[in-house]
Amino acid sequence: MQVKLSLTKAVPAGLIEELTKKSVYCSPHLKALSITGDGSTAVLTVDREDQAAAVSDKVSRFIATMIKGYRKFDRKVVFENDIPVTYTENAWEEMLRRNWAYDSGFGQVALAGIGFDLFRYFEDVFVRIADESFRARHYRFPTLIPAEVLGRCNYFSSFPHAITFATHLHGDYDVLEQFSEANKQGPLNFPRLDALEQPQYCLTPVVCYHCYRTLEGHNLTADEMRVFSAVGSCFRYESYNTTTLERLWDFTLREIVFVGNREAVKDQRQVCIDVVAEWLKRIGLRVRFETASDPFFTSDFSERTYFQLIADLKYEMRVNVSPDRTIAAGSFNLHNDFFGKTFNIRSGDGSAFSSCIGFGVERFVYAFVCQKGFDPANWPEEVRRFVKDRA
Ligand SMILES: [Zn+2]
Repeated sequence: MQVKLSLTKAVPAGLIEELTKKSVYCSPHLKALSITGDGSTAVLTVDREDQAAAVSDKVSRFIATMIKGYRKFDRKVVFENDIPVTYTENAWEEMLRRNWAYDSGFGQVALAGIGFDLFRYFEDVFVRIADESFRARHYRFPTLIPAEVLGRCNYFSSFPHAITFATHLHGDYDVLEQFSEANKQGPLNFPRLDALEQPQYCLTPVVCYHCYRTLEGHNLTADEMRVFSAVGSCFRYESYNTTTLERLWDFTLREIVFVGNREAVKDQRQVCIDVVAEWLKRIGLRVRFETASDPFFTSDFSERTYFQLIADLKYEMRVNVSPDRTIAAGSFNLHNDFFGKTFNIRSGDGSAFSSCIGFGVERFVYAFVCQKGFDPANWPEEVRRFVKDRA
């Protein structure tokens, strides 16, 4: 059923996209939300009539908080490769049709054949950048991360909507026997929810927290810098924003991470911006790097969002997937001394500063086929060299 909410304060035009995206976390009974042209009415699609009032109440409070925190901000573009592109429409469907990708479940994708060759190309480029420009040390981290670590990084208060918990059944003979009995056949069946242990671990949402942890309690000299390179499966639950290769629950994140003094980590981020820009120009992807903020979901999100924007703490690599739509395939981030303080990492006399560069590998694959099409003969030579599969 549809519910129309008249808003006492109209939603500013610049907020509509973000508000619609975040509305998926209002209620499981809210199936869609749109804001009418002048911002004065919210149209809700609710799946159960008896839930309409409760959902309307949550949406009203959510919209009021979003409007209260909103300040207009012109995003700064620090690099742009504005080249003409012939886009492929329905690139995702075409990847499925060619068996370059398989839908493996909600927010999960398998890549195969040339789809996976592209993935290997991007991974190779990111490793080469880490090696050749930064002499990074390579790491392999676990997929699980202690909840205690995410807690210290304020992840639970900042991004509660995105967490994926890892847990298991109680090590109790009765619980295990009951569970086994209830699952003799068919889909997963929980005879009792209290059979689960309270989660002490999560599936890791970023790679770089693991890096800082390896330096916990370390004293770096004033001009010492540590450079990490690591890749891992990362997990962010995105509710029904989840779509194609563009927004996955389970995705691959490559990060290059710098820990050292304030100037050095900022300088290295700039070097990385220049190196990545040069590479994207070379392979001819239409892209721009612009100021951005993390998708906080807290009551104090507005201050933190605008602090990030104003202080240029985050630039996103926005790659076009159509003439008028871009996706954030990566980002260049400064964290000031937040992780230095959190993990007690010293640089000279003070806390260490850090920066990280993240590449969402599947998003690069997707944006690439949207812009370059499906015939490897039309692709840059350095990409074509990775094409092994002829199927
Ligand atoms: Zn990071």
